[in-house]
Amino acid sequence: MTNSLSILTVPAFDDNYLWVIHDGKHAAVVDPGDAVPILKTLEAHQLTLSAILLTHHHSDHIGAVPALLQHFNVPVYGPANDGIQAVSHRLAEGDLVHIPEMNLALQVIAVPGHTLGHIAYFASVQHWLFSGDTLFAGGCGRVFEGTPAQMLSSLDKLAALPDDTAVYCAHEYTLSNLRFAKEVEPDNPAIAERLLREQRKRDEGIPTVPGQIGLEKRSNPFLRSREPAVIARLLSAGKISARADAQDEASTFAALREWKNNYR
Ligand SMILES: [Zn+2]
Repeated sequence: MTNSLSILTVPAFDDNYLWVIHDGKHAAVVDPGDAVPILKTLEAHQLTLSAILLTHHHSDHIGAVPALLQHFNVPVYGPANDGIQAVSHRLAEGDLVHIPEMNLALQVIAVPGHTLGHIAYFASVQHWLFSGDTLFAGGCGRVFEGTPAQMLSSLDKLAALPDDTAVYCAHEYTLSNLRFAKEVEPDNPAIAERLLREQRKRDEGIPTVPGQIGLEKRSNPFLRSREPAVIARLLSAGKISARADAQDEASTFAALREWKNNYR
C-alpha cells in the first residue's frame, strides 16, 4: 500500500519553518532547529520519525538533532562538507536520498553560498523543493561563507526546476523581501500583486511559504539580476557604478545582495 505524502508546517523561534514530510504513519523532518514543536507535531499526528534531513550547519536548522536522536534511532542526512558532526549519511550534488518506509525520494542539489556546504532537497515526484536558507519567497539567504558568484550559480540551479515546484524555505521573510523587490522593480506588476496577496495572508496569520519556482522567477529580484530593468535600477540607484559592473553578472548580483543587506 502506498500512502501519498504530505507536509506539515511547524513554526519555530521568531520566523523559522521546520517541515515534517509524512505518509500518515512515518515522518521525515527537514531542518529541525527546535525539538519541542517537532515532538509535539509527531505526537499530535501519531507519526514515527524515520529520518532527519539537514540543509546546512546553522543552529536554528540542526539544534534539535540530539534530542530527536534520543527519541528515535534514525539516519541523519546532511551535507558532506558543512561541518555537521551528527550527519550519518553525507550527501553531495547528484546524490539520491531514499526513505523506503515512506516511499520518499529526494535529489540532492549542492547550493553553496549561504554556507559552503549548503544543500537543497528536491522531491522530483511531488515537485517539492526544500531550499533551507538559499532561496526564500521573494528573496535569498545572505552570502556568509561563499561568494556572490557561487550563490548566483546555486540560485540558477533552483530556478531551473519546474515552474510548479513548491519552495519550502526555512524562514517567513516574505513581506520584507517583497518590499525590497518593489524598491528594485517598482513597475513589475507580479511583485506588486504578490506583495498584496502575501500581506493578506500574514494579516490572517497564514504562512506565505511555500511559493512556487515560476512565481519566484517573476517576482524575486535575486532570480532576476540579469533582467535589464534590474540592472538599470542598480545603475540609477548608484549601486553599480559603471557599464563594466553592469555587464558582469556576479557583480550585479553582489550589488543587489549588498543593497538588501543594508535595506531599512
Ligand atoms: Zn542559515
